[in-house]
Amino acid sequence: MSKRDYYEVLGVSKNAAKDEIKKAYRKQALKYHPDKNPGDKEAEEKFKEAAEAYEILSNDEKRARYDQYGHAGMGNNMGGFGGGMTMEDIFASFGDIFGDAFGGAFGGRGRSSRSRVNKGSNLRLKVKLTLEEFARGAEKKIKVSKYVTCNTCGGTGAASPSDVVTCTACGGTGHTVRVMNTILGQMQTSAPCNVCGGEGKVINKKCHKCYGEGIVQAEEVIPLSIPAGLSPGMQLSVSGKGNAARRGGINGDLILLIDEEPHPELIREGNDLIYNLFISIPDAILGSHVEVPTIEGKARIKIDAGTQGGKILRLRGKGLPDVNGYGRGDLLVNVNVWIPKNLSKEEQKAFEQYRNSATFTPKPDADDKGFFDRVKNYFS
Ligand SMILES: [Zn+2]
Ligand SMILES: [Zn+2]
Repeated sequence: MSKRDYYEVLGVSKNAAKDEIKKAYRKQALKYHPDKNPGDKEAEEKFKEAAEAYEILSNDEKRARYDQYGHAGMGNNMGGFGGGMTMEDIFASFGDIFGDAFGGAFGGRGRSSRSRVNKGSNLRLKVKLTLEEFARGAEKKIKVSKYVTCNTCGGTGAASPSDVVTCTACGGTGHTVRVMNTILGQMQTSAPCNVCGGEGKVINKKCHKCYGEGIVQAEEVIPLSIPAGLSPGMQLSVSGKGNAARRGGINGDLILLIDEEPHPELIREGNDLIYNLFISIPDAILGSHVEVPTIEGKARIKIDAGTQGGKILRLRGKGLPDVNGYGRGDLLVNVNVWIPKNLSKEEQKAFEQYRNSATFTPKPDADDKGFFDRVKNYFS
C-alpha cells in the first residue's frame, strides 16, 4: 500500500497557510476521533494518517523537507512518528487541537502523570542468507543508515545543559489542568502542555548540529547473531537497535526480514534440498563414484551399474535443519543421464554396433518396475 500525499490527506493545497493546515487537521481529527467511531479500525487508521500528516506539515523544517523529497525525505518514519505512532502519542502531541470538543471524556485520554517519553521508530531491514547460513546460523555485520543520538548535545537538543529548563507553563508535568464550572459542577480537564509539547522541558537555545531534535542521521555498523534453522519470510527483532528517539527517549527496534540468497547448485524444498546431477552414459551403464555438492561441502556418492535417468538418490540428513528443531531434511539427488551430440565417426560406429542389441532395447517393466511407476506418476 503506498502512502498518501500529506496535503491530500488533510485536503489542503501545497501552499496552505499554517492555521489552514491546523484547521484542516482539526476537522479530520474530530471526524475520525475514536470516541465518535468506537471500534472502527478504518476510522482509527484515518485518524492516525491525519495526525502523521499534521506532524510533518505543521513543522516548517519537516514540511520543507517533505516538499522537496516527498515521503522518501522523511527517512524511515522520521522523528518517531509515521508507522510507529500510537493513539496515545497522538493525544499526547496534538491533544490541544480538540479544545473542548470532547470535554471531560477527552481529558482522560493520553493523560499521564509523568511527562511524555519519546520513542524512536523501528527500522526494517531485509537480510539475505545463504543456505549454509540457514543451516548453521551466522555472525554478520550490517551497515544501516538511521537516526542516532546527537553527540554534540548528547541528545538533549540544547546548545548547553543550562539551555534545558523546566517548562514554566506546566511546571514540568507535561500537561495542563483546567478547572471548568459547568451545570454539573466543577469539571477538571487535562491536556498536554502546548508550550513544551508534553515533554515538561523547553530548550532556550537549540543545538546547532541537530537543530534541537537531539538526533542526527548517521551510518552505524550493527553486529548480528543469526541463529540456525530460520526460514525465508521470518522476522527477527533486535531490541533497541532501531532509530534513536528525539531528545533522549527510548530507541526503536531493528526488525530483520529474513530472505534467501539463491544457491548456485542446490534448490530448497522445505527442509529438503534438491540437486540435479548429470552423469555420462558410460557411468550410468558401468557404475561410478561421483561428487555432489552439499551445504557441508562435497559428498562422494556411488552410482550403481545400470542406473536409469530419473532415479532419485536420497542422502538422509543432508538437508536443512527443521525450523521447530525436529531433525533435518534430506538431500535429494535427481539423476539425469547426459546424452551427447556431435559424436566422432568412431564413437558413432561404436554405438551403431549396439543399435540392434537386445541388451540395449528398452524394457522398463522387466528391468525396473519402480522406474516405470515413477514415470507414470510423474505425468499424471
Ligand atoms: Zn544536538
Ligand atoms: Zn509544559
